[in-house]
Amino acid sequence: MLRQPLLMLSRSDKVKNLVTSMPVSSSIVSRYVPGESTEEAVEGTGALIDNGLHVTLDFLGEDTLDREQADATVAAYLDLLAALTDKGLARNAEVSVKLSAIGQALGSAGQPGLGPVSEGEKVALENARSICRAARNAGTTVTLDMEDHTTTDSTLGTLRELRKDFPETGAVVQAYLHRTEADCRDLAYEGSRVRLCKGAYNEPESVAFQDKHEVDKSYVRCLKVLMAGQGYPMVASHDPRMVDIAGALATRNGRAQGSYEYQMLYGIRPDEQRRLAEAGEKVRVYVPYGQEWYGYLMRRLAERPSNLQFFVRSLVSKK
Ligand SMILES: Cc1cc2nc3c(=O)[nH]c(=O)nc-3n(C[C@H](O)[C@H](O)[C@H](O)COP(=O)(O)OP(=O)(O)OC[C@H]3O[C@@H](n4cnc5c(N)ncnc54)[C@H](O)[C@@H]3O)c2cc1C
Repeated sequence: MLRQPLLMLSRSDKVKNLVTSMPVSSSIVSRYVPGESTEEAVEGTGALIDNGLHVTLDFLGEDTLDREQADATVAAYLDLLAALTDKGLARNAEVSVKLSAIGQALGSAGQPGLGPVSEGEKVALENARSICRAARNAGTTVTLDMEDHTTTDSTLGTLRELRKDFPETGAVVQAYLHRTEADCRDLAYEGSRVRLCKGAYNEPESVAFQDKHEVDKSYVRCLKVLMAGQGYPMVASHDPRMVDIAGALATRNGRAQGSYEYQMLYGIRPDEQRRLAEAGEKVRVYVPYGQEWYGYLMRRLAERPSNLQFFVRSLVSKK
């Protein structure tokens, strides 16, 4: 109910200035983001791995509209992968990349379904290749995050291109989109790593289910396709029902633990993350870091309006 107003409010400059004047160490920010620097991200990663968890790291920053910023994001990922290798963490930590942060939106739009044809798509593909190469050299993988529906065809087109050289590259699909069950069928082939999430953007009725119950039903239909398929499902949800259903479907399809994984966000249901890992499941925590934490934080708060009271208190006390 509060999701849309909160997302709209988050676009106000006044709100942004107020929130970003808070230190990253304030409790509301540090709950969701371990820090702004590579060192802090690597330190947070080490602590999670010590607890039997796996990690995927996201260098925060979306909608890059200039080439220099896209290049700086690529450099940040290369720096991160080198630091993970140095600390011996790369085997258990991969990276998640948003194509918009590495140039997808530069220049004019491409034509849906035709692969990387616009200037931005070409830049993003080349940048993604650099990150995939560095990840492979480090002994780990990349997953391409999925953004709003206007980028879905472009992102899946870039994924197809990338997978020619780096078949281990992970895809993300969003259950709230009407198209996603069909996308799951296309992606459920051997070796294909597919993260299924509900979807975090504000999408119109023409492309997305609006009712939470409909989204949940779609999530289950997509899970059925992925679990019955030949790929590697990555079940990204904090929803206890989805976690249970995923477990039941894995058993029904004769999948051993480790032939699929659970994924949750840093700071959300940490006890459940550990419980699943202790039960022998593979669990990966999505760890966002970097200076551009504002948009990410506001999306998490919009998902969980009960956090709002805590948030307002943090703003007032600036702690
Ligand atoms: C690993 C991972 C990667 C993701 N990647 C993408 C992506 O590439 N593209 C994209 O659009 N979305 C992505 N998402 C976000 C996702 O689409 C949802 O917006 C988000 O996960 C909330 O959906 P849910 O499945 O947890 O279910 P919900 O129905 O939203 O929540 C279920 C329960 O989880 C708990 N919970 C959920 N959110 C919070 C919160 N913020 N604070 C505290 N408790 C909470 C509550 O107990 C809630 O009842 C990703 C999510 C995860 C876990």
